[in-house]
Amino acid sequence: MRLDRFLPLVLLIGITHCFFFEVVNPSPAGIALEQPEASTWPVQPESAPQGQSEAVSTIEESATAVLEAQIENIQARHDVTQNLDYKCGPKWGKCPMGTCCSSSGYCGTSKLHCRSPDCLIDFGTCDAHRVPKGPPTSEILRPHIGQVPYGPQEIRSCTVPGTVALTFDDGPTRYTGELLDLLDKYEAPATFFITGVNNGKGQIDDLSLPWAPLIERMLLSGHQIASHTWSHEDLSKISPTQRREQMEKNEGALRNIIGSFPTYMRPPYSSCLADSGCREAMGDMGYHIILYDIDTDDWKNDNPSLIQRSKDLFDHALSSGNPATKSWIVIGHDAHEQTVHNLTEHMLRTISRLGYRPVTIGDCLQDPRDNWYRIDNRWPGHKNKKNTPNKKGPKKVVPQQVSVDGTCGANYTCLGSRFGLCCSSVHLCGNSTLHCGVGCLRDSGYCTVEAPSNGDAWDPKSPGRSGKSEGESEFRTVGTAAATSLFLALVVAVWM
Ligand SMILES: [Zn+2]
Repeated sequence: MRLDRFLPLVLLIGITHCFFFEVVNPSPAGIALEQPEASTWPVQPESAPQGQSEAVSTIEESATAVLEAQIENIQARHDVTQNLDYKCGPKWGKCPMGTCCSSSGYCGTSKLHCRSPDCLIDFGTCDAHRVPKGPPTSEILRPHIGQVPYGPQEIRSCTVPGTVALTFDDGPTRYTGELLDLLDKYEAPATFFITGVNNGKGQIDDLSLPWAPLIERMLLSGHQIASHTWSHEDLSKISPTQRREQMEKNEGALRNIIGSFPTYMRPPYSSCLADSGCREAMGDMGYHIILYDIDTDDWKNDNPSLIQRSKDLFDHALSSGNPATKSWIVIGHDAHEQTVHNLTEHMLRTISRLGYRPVTIGDCLQDPRDNWYRIDNRWPGHKNKKNTPNKKGPKKVVPQQVSVDGTCGANYTCLGSRFGLCCSSVHLCGNSTLHCGVGCLRDSGYCTVEAPSNGDAWDPKSPGRSGKSEGESEFRTVGTAAATSLFLALVVAVWM
């Protein structure tokens, strides 16, 4: 191979590579209002409370930097609508009415601008500002019933020896149905700390979305439902009014689904600092504040090659105690694929192997089930809506008997049977997604709503969406460009 023939082609490849790279990576100047969110939720651990990342500005002592600072100060004094770039935040002020302030400080109305908890609630409209239907729950009395301590005390461990309370935060998500299948398979009760409107998923009580049936299914399957706030804000960093709203809106939405709301809560980022008044406020609202004593760190290890670290953390912790005297509260997140498809089954097997049994938080604290929720009888919720008469005329009601052999349809319903709640398309009762999902017969049991295929509205990790961090996006682009160059080089080498 002669070098003088090869060099021009190498140059050509280099130019091609640079062109390709520029096309797929527009310069910052080419980016419109929206910037990729600085933090892909949930990036902050429940175990290591952190606030939203704040931009640390270093003022260089150059004439340019001083001039920029002066311009910023002048602009900050103006109404934000007069800013050509519609910036928002502590320096810039609020967004125009009806628009959201993204975590990177830009006004807009896209899902990325408005999704909570990234969206800045003090500088624009956010998903956090949505309100569930129905009367507010603020009027409902909240006596401290039972023996389990309420706020300001935080609860970090169980009291019944030999029990393990698996808890899952931030859902429901696209993975929650499969997690319920798995828990059914192992007959393992768990506790779900539910967030009402986080991560662009829409409201949990929006009946066009799949969340409400999943929450109903949790209840029917014997799991415990608890609150993880309305939009996953840091309760130590918001005002007392905002904190109350965070709890009451989630109460209203859960009430709309199951007719009651929980007495158990876990603060997002495990952040409910005494100084902020959060712990007292939770007590005043009638909540048990639940933390944990095993952190799986699953949010850090949501990758097939990393999830072993979470398994090791769990195994190591569980092995350190004796089930005759010890019990545990474990934190995980059903927002993560590896938690649902990998880690949870491992935990369930380890629990059994070491002689423990899985339970809900309420059970591991010996709190009677009636104490887990406060009933709101004022709002009928969607159950009664389903029963509203059809405009086409009254539907013929066929009296149904509970299935005795696992078959369903026509005169037999799965509701109340020992074979599962849902009637599949092939007329068999069960609780799995196969039974409750596509083809499920609504007249003969319970069915979940199919998840919409609207990308990151319900999946923080949809491929191709900007839910991924910018760094990962660049990595993919660089990888593609490098592969293209390598391919061209191989072609040239063969040709030479
Ligand atoms: Zn959370």
